[in-house]
Amino acid sequence: MVMRKAIRIPFQKAKMLIPMEDRFVAEAMLGKLAKWLRMMGYDILYQRSYREEDLARLLLGGRRLLSRRVEAQARHPGVLLLRSDHVGGQLKELKSLGCLKLDRSRFFTRCLLCNVPLKDADPEAARSTLPDYVFHENPSGIRFCPECGRFFWPGTHRNRMLKQLEEWGL
Ligand SMILES: [Zn+2]
Repeated sequence: MVMRKAIRIPFQKAKMLIPMEDRFVAEAMLGKLAKWLRMMGYDILYQRSYREEDLARLLLGGRRLLSRRVEAQARHPGVLLLRSDHVGGQLKELKSLGCLKLDRSRFFTRCLLCNVPLKDADPEAARSTLPDYVFHENPSGIRFCPECGRFFWPGTHRNRMLKQLEEWGL
């Protein structure tokens, strides 16, 4: 481990060094999109409806609202309004808005259910839970969710996802 001496960085400069990362909150009819964004490693909350005060709190906390409701624009000027009713089209819209980075190293780094970042799993600890073939394929790629305890690993699901993205032209 390399020890580094702490260096004080002036606030403005420090702010610039932190990469801007979009975090989202999705409204009704965008559940599929939320799942895809989560697979891509994005922090995205989704439920069918929100109380107005809860939504306001999330937006104040820096999340960007994804909505298909035109009327959302009046209440939330920063909303990312999506017009397509298809998840492939919605991802393309986000990309053209500059809000979608396809960084493959980030794919499958977040729990699809809990929305929290996954951690590397100890293969030995995972062995008692997972089928044998997982360990023959790629034991070092196994991750787990610290929230729900589910295991995730690169497999056919990931390949299907990459193929689908290609078909959508993403
Ligand atoms: Zn989880």
